[in-house]
Amino acid sequence: MTTFWDAAPAVKVPYTALGQQAAALKQDLLAACQSILESGQYVMGPELAAFEREFAEYCGTRFAVGVANGTDALILVLRRLALQAGDEVITAPNSFIASASSIALAGGRPVFADIGVDLNLDPAQVEAAITPRTKAIVPVHLTGRPARMDEILAIAKRYRLYVLEDAAQAVGAKLHDRRAGSWGDAACFSLHPLKNLHAFGDGGVVTTNDEPLYRWLLQARNHGLKNRDECAFWSVNSRLDEIQAAMLRVQLRHLDQWTAERRRLAARYAVLLKPHVEVPEERPGEHHVFQTYMIQADRRDALLRHLNDHDIEARVHYPVPLHRQPVTRDLGYGTDALPIATRAAGRILSLPLYPGLTEAQQQRVAQLIAEFYRR
Ligand SMILES: *Cc1c(COP(=O)(O)O)cnc(C)c1O
Repeated sequence: MTTFWDAAPAVKVPYTALGQQAAALKQDLLAACQSILESGQYVMGPELAAFEREFAEYCGTRFAVGVANGTDALILVLRRLALQAGDEVITAPNSFIASASSIALAGGRPVFADIGVDLNLDPAQVEAAITPRTKAIVPVHLTGRPARMDEILAIAKRYRLYVLEDAAQAVGAKLHDRRAGSWGDAACFSLHPLKNLHAFGDGGVVTTNDEPLYRWLLQARNHGLKNRDECAFWSVNSRLDEIQAAMLRVQLRHLDQWTAERRRLAARYAVLLKPHVEVPEERPGEHHVFQTYMIQADRRDALLRHLNDHDIEARVHYPVPLHRQPVTRDLGYGTDALPIATRAAGRILSLPLYPGLTEAQQQRVAQLIAEFYRR
């Protein structure tokens, strides 16, 4: 039997439409590039300084420091803690690998605490994971939904632990009207093309209210140089280029409008999909920015195939939790460890959601999902 949908022209839904979003700002972006080309100043110039001021203001922090990528942002802040072998840092097991690799690369031991129904760190599990070797907590605002920072900060205060937010996915997110990036001792953002505010290439930024950390980061991202001739400590080259900073400044002006559109699209998905799958929610006080629209679904792998077979580019972020990675085998997490994160890894599915996604595309995604569960 031919249904209406089979007869309709195929609607494709790619996972991203970055080129389309860039095209809408083409004049301004090209003008920004041209001014950098002509300025002759390509690193560590006025565009970076201006972007840092504007980004700090956006997040509600005193300082921001641009770096080469979000992973470096995490590594540099964690290096400042001077972790010793065996020092532990607690983070989420259901994140991008960089949330944990940064801890290891800074000399610490990643420790994973289980998550709650919001797919972010469960504060009670964080507290249970604290040992005498614990030095810091790295909460992740996964998918752009703010972690329970008020409760995590209260625990950190009680145990005197450092809090570094992994806000890579959460630019603009808020909890009780306070932005992600302004809760912890410091926060790290990625400006990778898949993040809500992105460079045309790689980029990252740290926010903080801590002036000594800020001054240290200005040197740490630039070889540890105090000035042109004097090096204070060994460090790397991890700078954010002028051309990226200039293009980021253009986009920052549109971020709130893009976020509003993401939230409208998420609300529409929620209505369409709620009968069939678990849709992301927002608790009172939370302002989710939907960097990823992540549902949880029964028979996830088959649903993923069904969508992909019909030109819907759904993805899984991330199918293998951090405590199940080959690289973390020696951390000793057994098969029963972190049951909530482990179970979620088999159910999560990221659907396409970005400014410019049409209602017809969302309807098509929803129709395919409904059809899948009717079978
Ligand atoms: C993207 C991401 C990072 C790493 O950022 P890069 O800019 O790709 O280095 C770290 N943590 C999380 C949660 C991310 O999503």
